Amino acid sequence: MISLEEAVRKLQARVRPLGVEEVSVLRSFGRILREDVRSPLAIPPFARSAMDGFAVQAADITGASRQTPVTLEVLEDIPAGRIGQYRLRKGTAARIMTGAALPGGADTVVMVEDTEPAPDGVRIGRAIARGSHVVSAGEDIRKGERALAAGTLIGPAEMGMIAATGRSKVKVSIRPQVRVVSTGSEILRPGGPLRPGHIYDTNGYSLTGLAAGRGAEARFLGIAPDRKGALERKIARARDAHLLILSGGVSVGDHDLVQDILLQAGIEQLFHRVSIKPGMPTFAGMHGKRFVLGLPGHPVSCMITFLLFAGLLIDTMLGKKAVGLRRGQATLSVPLCLKPRRRKFLRGILRESAGRLMVEPYPAQQSSVLKSMVVSGVLIDVPEGVTELKASTLVDILYLWPGGFNQRVQSSRSGRDGLTP
Ligand code: AMP
Ligand code: MG
Repeated sequence: MISLEEAVRKLQARVRPLGVEEVSVLRSFGRILREDVRSPLAIPPFARSAMDGFAVQAADITGASRQTPVTLEVLEDIPAGRIGQYRLRKGTAARIMTGAALPGGADTVVMVEDTEPAPDGVRIGRAIARGSHVVSAGEDIRKGERALAAGTLIGPAEMGMIAATGRSKVKVSIRPQVRVVSTGSEILRPGGPLRPGHIYDTNGYSLTGLAAGRGAEARFLGIAPDRKGALERKIARARDAHLLILSGGVSVGDHDLVQDILLQAGIEQLFHRVSIKPGMPTFAGMHGKRFVLGLPGHPVSCMITFLLFAGLLIDTMLGKKAVGLRRGQATLSVPLCLKPRRRKFLRGILRESAGRLMVEPYPAQQSSVLKSMVVSGVLIDVPEGVTELKASTLVDILYLWPGGFNQRVQSSRSGRDGLTP
């Protein structure tokens, strides 16, 4: 049995980022950027008005007030998308709309609300600071500046930013092809009647979701009963995948055939059995550049080992800047008694209490209780050998779902979910 660190090192030593493809920015949501995006232009490209109002020279209105308004001659109207014809001189203004380029000579925009039409121009009843309501060129991004770094996860703001630099296409990582197989003669596909002694497949679905959520292209290949031929056929169907993930059948029971069959199929074993709880029987292997993981069948073990091992492989293949689960610390809200063997990953619920992040282990830690994964937001990482943790101990945590799903996040101040103050 090897430690988690050793297992991770063995995977890291072999996994490489996949190639790159160019996609339309509109289709880049959720992809990993594989180039630095530098802006060939300043954003915005020109100084523009942030308001509907009048472009002026601040020096003209320094003495303006409601009692002593200043009247300026209006040279022209400048809607967005049109360039002004005239350069402002002392005593003149131009009517300007939001988004229009400031005319030459102007340095300030007075909001229309602070003006009054006058027979000979516009009356301004307030002095404002020079530069008010003007967005200067390059205020967002300077010309030549790196707007986004390679390795960034592309979300809505990133899509907008790439487009702002004038690009309609962008280089992203090829999506890893992940194939998922559930094994076990007791496992049935949902959608049909349940037979005595059988259960519906859980892992095929959780694993497909986990892989998709990490940015892979995941396909479920179905269920293989604990029979050699059936397993071999499924494995053969995943021949071209970057990563094949099987669940179940990797322990040492009479019908646990996965390891033997993988080895017979010529798969090079990287490790089998890791000193973690849950997830001890995990198998990892390679065939050429392709990876195979055999994960334990218990639904929670299966998901956690995905996150520890498959997540790392997929993140690296995608060229992500940050690989693996995000770490943090929280204060344990209850005392814990544990068996010393193996490093543990307990499902925990995070709460914020008086500005402190508190974590409470989910009451049922058995690896068959999938509900613990539905409501927990983090794993509490307990080192091997620890038998007792007092309440208020600071513990290491791993965030399960950076974007969040249905995990409980409670604030004791508001007593409500979410971020309501
Ligand atoms: P195994 O790792 O094959 O020994 O399975 C351990 C436990 O997980 C057994 O109770 C199995 O019935 C259960 N299990 C295995 N595969 C799945 C699956 N795909 N969906 C739900 N439970 C499973
Ligand atoms: Mg089984």
